[in-house]
Amino acid sequence: MQREPVHPVLFVGAGPGSADHLTLGALRAITTADVVVHDRLVGAEVLALLPPRVRRIDVGKAGFGASTAQADIDATLVAEARSGARVVRLKGGDCGIFGRLDEEIAALEAAGIGFAILPGLTTATVAAARIGQSLTRRGRNAGLRILTGHDMAGFAEQDWRGLARPGEVAAIYMGKRSARFIQGRLMMHGASGDVPVTIVENAARPQERVIAATLATLPQAVAGITGPAIILFGLAPRAPAVATPATATLKEARA
Ligand code: SAH
Repeated sequence: MQREPVHPVLFVGAGPGSADHLTLGALRAITTADVVVHDRLVGAEVLALLPPRVRRIDVGKAGFGASTAQADIDATLVAEARSGARVVRLKGGDCGIFGRLDEEIAALEAAGIGFAILPGLTTATVAAARIGQSLTRRGRNAGLRILTGHDMAGFAEQDWRGLARPGEVAAIYMGKRSARFIQGRLMMHGASGDVPVTIVENAARPQERVIAATLATLPQAVAGITGPAIILFGLAPRAPAVATPATATLKEARA
């Protein structure tokens, strides 16, 4: 019996939400796929670009414990690839940043299935742009930290002493619940309560919200947040306001 050829699974970063932040390669990949396996963080504007012919599997809705869901995702990728489908695994932002990419690659490798990675714009890059700032600046910070607020063990420990030094910048993902912990650790290591901290909720989506705070007011600032949010430590929105509406295309922004 002739078996279907097994195509490599393509891991694709979708950017944080708006179609403006999708790469051409990502567009090509999702429009020529047989099936797109995506999570909750992929923006509606990106999903709207999928042709009706392309099957979608929303693995963000699997409502079990995190590890059960991950095992289900792994199994889905393997089963779809084995059936001969061209599989795109579409992840919010960049697939290589807090995207559990290695676990999915390991599952494919164990099944003898190939893969390729097409990176996307990570939320930190886009959120900094939304507030008119750059993530590094000569004379201010010679490095950028990409951190998570919590990891498998709970609140994530970091190099707080290093981050507490004046001028340091960090993009903190998944930091809502650990905001008070992060504040406490940084102040304990000498950071000033006046350090600017900006929260960008739903970056590059129609519901985008920018909250300017300081290290001292961080816990209150995250209190009302319900959507995905990134904390930009060490950066204030460039005054007076964000230059363009949340999902303005470049053309609109120039008009
Ligand atoms: N791979 C993603 C990150 C996934 S971890 C990336 O590269 O951006 C999930 C966290 O990412 C969320 O808790 C939030 O901190 C951040 N995030 C993802 N999309 C976001 C968005 N549109 N706006 C703000 N934060 C976002």
